Amino acid sequence: MATHTAPLTDSFYKTLLDSLFDAVFVVDAEGIITYWNKSCERITGYPAEEMIGNNYLETPFARLDDEQTQKPGGIAIAMEQGLPGTWKGYVRRKNGQRIPVESHISPLSDETGALIGAAEVLRDISAHVALEQAHQQVLAMSRKDQLTGLLNRGAINDVLKTEIERCRRYHQSLSVVMIDIDHFKHINDRHGHEAGDRVLAKLGAIFLHNLRQPDVVGRWGGEEFLIIAPGSRDEQAAELAQRLRRYINAVAPPDVPETISASFGVTQFQAYQSLDQLLYVADMAMYQAKNTGRDRVVIAYADDYSPPDAA
Ligand code: GH3
Ligand code: MG
Ligand code: MG
Repeated sequence: MATHTAPLTDSFYKTLLDSLFDAVFVVDAEGIITYWNKSCERITGYPAEEMIGNNYLETPFARLDDEQTQKPGGIAIAMEQGLPGTWKGYVRRKNGQRIPVESHISPLSDETGALIGAAEVLRDISAHVALEQAHQQVLAMSRKDQLTGLLNRGAINDVLKTEIERCRRYHQSLSVVMIDIDHFKHINDRHGHEAGDRVLAKLGAIFLHNLRQPDVVGRWGGEEFLIIAPGSRDEQAAELAQRLRRYINAVAPPDVPETISASFGVTQFQAYQSLDQLLYVADMAMYQAKNTGRDRVVIAYADDYSPPDAA
C-alpha cells in the first residue's frame, strides 16, 4: 500500500497559508512581523512588503487605531502572558474603511517552552455583522406601529410585563393611562380615513414628546393608546393625562378643523394584580370618562373592581 506523506517544504507551507481565507500573520519575540499572508493583504489592504520586517506596534495598521477601532493589542498581551486570546472588534483598512473582525492570537514557543513570538488569525465578519444588523432592524420594525412610529401593542405589552415585575421586586409605584380618542368615527366620516390617520400620527407625536424619561407610550389599538408611567402614583399620572388632554385640545391638524379630544383612564398598579387585571381597571376608568362626558381624566382604584377572571 502506498504511503502518502505531505511535502513539508517551505513552499508548501507558503502556498497553504496564502490559500487560507483568514488573514494570518506572525511576529517574533521582539514584535517584528515575520509573516503576512495573502488574506492579510486582502483584509487590511497592507501588502506583505510594507509589513514584514517592521515592528508590529509601529506599523500604520496598528497605529491607525482610534477610539472606535479596537486595538489588536492582544499580540502584546499574548506575548507577555504566554496565553492565547480572542477578541472581536474593528480594524482600519489602509483605505480608511473599518471592517469588523474576529481575531485569535496564539503565542508561539520553541521546544524548550521559550516564547518566540505569536501568530494572529483575523477573520472578516462583515457578512455576519450585516446579517445581525438586518435582524435587529427587522426586530425593531416588528415592535413599531407603522402609522405613528410608537411601540405597537405587542411591544408595549412586553414593556408593561417588565415594569410590573420591576415594581413587584422593588416595591415602586407604577401607573398606566389608557387613552381613547373621542368620536373618532365622526372624524373619519367627515374628513376621510387618511385625515384620520394624520390625526392619529399627530397625537402619537404629542404623547411621545410630552412624556418624562421613564414613561413609555404605545399604540394599543385603532385609536387607543397606552402610557406606562413607572415610578408614578395615580395622581401624578392623572396630572400627566390632564396635560396631554389639553395639548390634544389645542392641536389643529390642517385638514381637520375641529377640536380633538380624548378620554383618559388612569390607575395605579397593586402588587396583587395581574397585568390583565390592571388593564381592566384602566379600561373601566376610561369608559367612565366616556360615560361622564368625554374629554376628561378619570382615576379608578384597583380595590373598587373585582378582577375580570373573578367576576
Ligand atoms: P368614542 O368617543 O366612543 O370612542 O367614539 P369613537 O367613534 O372613537 O369610537 P369607536 O370605537 O366606535 O370608533 C373608533 C373608530 O376608529 C372606528 C375606526 O374606523 C377608527 N379607526 C381605528 N383605527 C384606525 C386607523 O388606523 N385609522 C383611521 N383613520 N381610523 C381608525
Ligand atoms: Mg376605541
Ligand atoms: Mg374612540
